Amino acid sequence: MRALILSDVHANLAALEAVLADADRRGGFDVIWCLGDLVDYGPEPGPCLELLRRFPLVAVAGNHDHAALNQLDIADFNPDAATSAIWTARQLSPEDVAMLSGFPLVVVAAPFTLVHGSLRAPLREYLLSPEAAVNTLARLTTPYCLVGHSHLPFLCLENRNGPEFALFAEDEIYPLDGRRWIINPGSVGQPRDHDPRPSYAIYSSEPTGGASNGNGNGTVERHRVEYDIADTQEKMRRAGLPQGLIDRLDYGV
Ligand code: ZN
Repeated sequence: MRALILSDVHANLAALEAVLADADRRGGFDVIWCLGDLVDYGPEPGPCLELLRRFPLVAVAGNHDHAALNQLDIADFNPDAATSAIWTARQLSPEDVAMLSGFPLVVVAAPFTLVHGSLRAPLREYLLSPEAAVNTLARLTTPYCLVGHSHLPFLCLENRNGPEFALFAEDEIYPLDGRRWIINPGSVGQPRDHDPRPSYAIYSSEPTGGASNGNGNGTVERHRVEYDIADTQEKMRRAGLPQGLIDRLDYGV
């Protein structure tokens, strides 16, 4: 079984299409696991949701999905984010609203648990510190956890001394081992690790390395793709979305 792991698509259709095509080229996938923030910031919330409805999809809600549904107080959003959330809410069809409203905050897709932020605060917490990782691991009932929200790709492995953050390198295949892992695939639609290329991951349940290393836990890998940033930016301009949101796509911040 192969799962395509996406997070923080943020209504960037060109980025999403590039990721889907790249994942297809790399052997395809049986299901899409989505870690929240499908909409907001980007210019094509409806078309992104429509495209994803064509695939088997397991998804959790993100804070921006809730903002677009008017289920989250946007008083603490910065002005650009608030403008975008209000614009996004007006673009959603009844079908889009029903789809987003159906996403839970946490979902188990064994052997993974999917959540946008963290298991302590699914919509709010950026899981970026050992303390936050310890807290989520204490609540985790599966071997592995997938998170988004920070838009920063990483691996976090539970060692004897506690969780340790590690680089989730591009184009490397990581065999899952007996330890518990927290994994962030990075963002499809608005990367923030100073690389503007969409980032995503693939989980394969196929064991690697043959019987000799005894690994039957499957693998994860992360990839990046190029897409037409200027095209997305032009659509944002036409939609009247804030200039700051348009500019940041160039820099991956
Ligand atoms: Zn996000």
